[in-house]
Amino acid sequence: MKKILIVGGVAGGATAATRLRRLSEHDEIIIFEKDEHISFANCGLPYYIGGIISEREHLIIETPETFKSKFNIDVRNFSEVISIDILKKSVTIREVKTGHTYDETYDKLLLSPGATPIWLDILGLEKAKNVFSMRNLVDTDKIYHYIHKEKVQTALIIGGGFIGVELAENLMEKGIQSKIVDVSSQILPPLDYEMAKMAQNELETNGVFVYLNDSVIEIKDEGKTVVLKSGLTLKTDLIIMSVGVRPESRLAITGGLKVGAKGHIVTNEHLQALNAKTNGVVSDVYAAGDAIEVQDFIDGSTTAVPLAWPANRQGRLVADHMNGMNVSFKGVLGTAIVKVFSLTCAVTGNNAKTLDKKKIVYKAITVTRSNHSGYYPGAKDITIKLLFSPETGKILGAQAVGQEGTDKRIDVIATAIKGGLTVFDLPDLELAYAPPYGSSKDPVNIAGYVASNLMKKEYDVVSQEELEKCVKKKHS
Ligand SMILES: Cc1cc2nc3c(=O)[nH]c(=O)nc-3n(C[C@H](O)[C@H](O)[C@H](O)COP(=O)(O)OP(=O)(O)OC[C@H]3O[C@@H](n4cnc5c(N)ncnc54)[C@H](O)[C@@H]3O)c2cc1C
Repeated sequence: MKKILIVGGVAGGATAATRLRRLSEHDEIIIFEKDEHISFANCGLPYYIGGIISEREHLIIETPETFKSKFNIDVRNFSEVISIDILKKSVTIREVKTGHTYDETYDKLLLSPGATPIWLDILGLEKAKNVFSMRNLVDTDKIYHYIHKEKVQTALIIGGGFIGVELAENLMEKGIQSKIVDVSSQILPPLDYEMAKMAQNELETNGVFVYLNDSVIEIKDEGKTVVLKSGLTLKTDLIIMSVGVRPESRLAITGGLKVGAKGHIVTNEHLQALNAKTNGVVSDVYAAGDAIEVQDFIDGSTTAVPLAWPANRQGRLVADHMNGMNVSFKGVLGTAIVKVFSLTCAVTGNNAKTLDKKKIVYKAITVTRSNHSGYYPGAKDITIKLLFSPETGKILGAQAVGQEGTDKRIDVIATAIKGGLTVFDLPDLELAYAPPYGSSKDPVNIAGYVASNLMKKEYDVVSQEELEKCVKKKHS
C-alpha cells in the first residue's frame, strides 16, 4: 500500500486521484486543497457570469463528500500545503480556517497547484473597490455578487486573451457594456494578426469596444475612472484584470525543486520533479498542470500551456507512472478554442509569430470554404490558415475562424500533427460527409491541396503584405 499526497484538487489533481484509485483499491490517497472547492469547472466560470450556465451547482463536478463516497479519497479542503521536505518525504499543512499546522509523510507526492492571475501594478489600483480577476469559484462569486449588488452597467477588461474575450461576451449577454483594453496590436495572442482581426470585428459588431496598442496607466475615483496611455479617459463600474497567469510554484521553489526561467516547475518526461541543486530526479515527487514547464510538440522547445487538456493528461500519466507504468508526456500543441459571439476561433501548433520568433522556416496558406455544402441551407464560411515546413511538408500549426464545424477542422489538423502527417496527407483524409455536415472536399482537404500545390511548386502564393508592397511599388 502506498500513501499518496496530492496538492491541488482541481484539473490535474482530481484526475490523478481518481485514476490512482482505479489502479489500486488499497492506496491511501489524500488531496489537499487550500480553497473550498475541488473538481469544479473553471472553464465554465465566464458562462455562469453571463447566465448561460444558470445554476452555480452545475459548476461543481465533485465535492469532498462525493470523492469520499465514490472513490474513498480523503479530501482535505481549506488545507494549504505550506512546505515540502523532500529528504524526510513529508509536507506541512496549514488549516486555513484555524491556522493549525501539521505534517503528513508520503510515499509519492503530486503537485498540481495551478497558476494565479497576474495583477498589473497600476497607479491607484489599491484604492479601487471594483477590480477582480477570475481564477476560481470564489473569484466568480465575488464578480457575480458585485454585478448584482452594484447594478453594474459598464465593464472594462484589461487583457484580450481567451478569458478576457469570454468575459466581454458574457458581460454583454448580461446587458453590461464591455470594453477591452490590450497593450498588443491584436486580441487573442494564439491567433495571428489577420485571424484575430475577424474575432475583433465580431466583438465590435456585437457592441464591445476594443482599445488596442493601449494600456491602463491610472485608476481613479476608487475604480470608476481609468486613464489610458493614449490619453483616453474611460468610465467604468467594474474592472477585470485578465492579463495572464503565473505558475503557483512557491512551494516547489522553497522545497528545493527546479523551476524554469518563468518559474514553472521543471520535470522529466515522466513528470517527475528535478532537484534544483543536483538536477537529478526527485523520484517520488511529480508535478502536473499549469504550474509546469512542458515541451512544445512541434519543435521540442520549452514552453508552458495553462490549459485543461495538458493538466488532465498529465494527471493521468502521473497516476500511471506512480503505479509502475512506463509512460511519458509527449508535449503540447496548445490546441485551444474560444467562442466569440457567433464565431469560433480555434488554434493548434505554432502560429506565424511564434515561428518567426523561433526562426523556423515556414510557408502559410489561407483558405476560406463553406462549413458544409453551399446548397444546403445555412452554410457559413470557415477560414483556415495552415503553416507548414516548405522542405518537408510537416504541419507546424493551424488556425481556423468560422462558425459551426470550425472546432472539428482544428481537431482534425491537431490529430494529423500528432499522427505525424504532412500537408500531402491532408487531401487523403477521408472525412465524414453529408450536405448538412461537410463537403465531399472538406476545408481540411482543400487546405491540404493548396499547401501541396505550393510544395510541388505548381502554384505560388502572394501574401497580403507582399501584394501591398507590390501595389505601393507600382504607384510610387
Ligand atoms: C475562467 C477560466 C476559464 C478557462 N477556460 C478554459 C477553457 O475553456 N479551456 C481550457 O483548456 N482551459 C481553460 N482554463 C484553464 C484550465 O482551467 C486550467 O488550465 C486547469 O484548470 C489547470 O489545472 P491545474 O490542476 O494545473 O490547476 P487548477 O485547476 O487551477 O487547480 C489548482 C488547485 O490547487 C490549489 N492549490 C494551489 N496551491 C496550493 C497549496 N499550496 N495547497 C493546497 N492547494 C493548493 C488551488 O487552490 C487550485 O484549486 C480556464 C481557466 C479559467 C480560470
